[in-house]
Amino acid sequence: NTRAGQMQKSPIRKLFDRASGMRDVIHLEMGEPDLPTPAGAVEAADRAARDGKTHYTANNGIPSLRRAIAASPFANGLSYDPETEVIVTVGAINALALALMCIIEPGEGILVQDPVWLDYFELAKFVGGEVRHIRTVPEEGFRVSAERVRQALTPNSRVLMLNTPGNPTGVVLSRPELEEIARVAVEHDLLVVCDEVYRTLIYDGVPSASIAECPGMKERTLVVNSVSKAFAMTGWRVGFALGPAKLIAKMTQLQEYLNACVATPCQYAAQWAVEHFEAADAMREIYDARRKVMVAGLNSIPGIRCAMPAGAFYAFADVRAFGMETQILCERILEEARVVCTPGSCFGSCGEGFIRFSYANSIENIEEAIRRLRTFAARLPHAEF
Ligand code: PMP
Repeated sequence: NTRAGQMQKSPIRKLFDRASGMRDVIHLEMGEPDLPTPAGAVEAADRAARDGKTHYTANNGIPSLRRAIAASPFANGLSYDPETEVIVTVGAINALALALMCIIEPGEGILVQDPVWLDYFELAKFVGGEVRHIRTVPEEGFRVSAERVRQALTPNSRVLMLNTPGNPTGVVLSRPELEEIARVAVEHDLLVVCDEVYRTLIYDGVPSASIAECPGMKERTLVVNSVSKAFAMTGWRVGFALGPAKLIAKMTQLQEYLNACVATPCQYAAQWAVEHFEAADAMREIYDARRKVMVAGLNSIPGIRCAMPAGAFYAFADVRAFGMETQILCERILEEARVVCTPGSCFGSCGEGFIRFSYANSIENIEEAIRRLRTFAARLPHAEF
């Protein structure tokens, strides 16, 4: 009965396992880009391997990648010392885990926005933290606000975990909103772990803002990011964190024992990507077109309402009109419409009544999924709208 043994098996597993055995299924549950990794990144890894860059690197990653990260938009225009304030990790998830393991004493409070990617809750519990949900609501567009953070605070709160642009909501917090939240963090001496993995996927010219840029925050914020979503490189497993030297040093020490380092050729691939940000811009254009088709399509189905997401590649649609638990609704959608999507209940306790549809899929597949969903919705006997 170890802490690992207590980790929750996501109820969606059953759904996804069932889907994997079915034919002619459209996958809108994907939490990752469907696009290919840019050829330049692949070539950089190939070159590195052929050049014999196939051995351990420093625990905090190759210096040239750290320098590239510090000089890239991932640094949010702030100045980080690539020697002491940047660490390369095995994806963003490894950065999050290292950070929490280094910061949290058992029993200390971790504030986690809800709904959010499920891993946050499980990681926070795993490190022995006392998890408090920052409850967000549809009436406020699922936005985290200073007020909502205050409601979750306890005297032992130590860390605030933030995800913007958000999975599953697509919410992009604005600079004024982040400043308000930052004030709470300063007031209560919180360390902020800010997951910005969807930072390159913000649409309609909405400016990207990081809480690290707010007054008094750089020294108490760990910015976590990766090349996974930005450059369609989820399988390369390269992420990174930028933050206070003391915390980065502890994470580097722990990394020595956990992973030693990130796979060396993959670090070179990531360096190519970080130095070619235009590749991420090209991908954003593709998702943007899909986003519009997805949201217009969902809104054309009686009973479904969907706000236009400002970031990431998820539409978080309101299906409360169907009056059904979303886990059951998603199971029926799979069986009867052969579309896989993710129930909002998988993202904490505030997402029930909503379904996450990923638009990291082709326009043709999205259009076909919408047709199937429309037929499915029309057959629902008790739909009341
Ligand atoms: N953060 C969020 C919010 C995510 O949605 C995901 C992937 N689903 C990750 C982190 C994981 O990123 P990585 O592949 O870099 O570990």
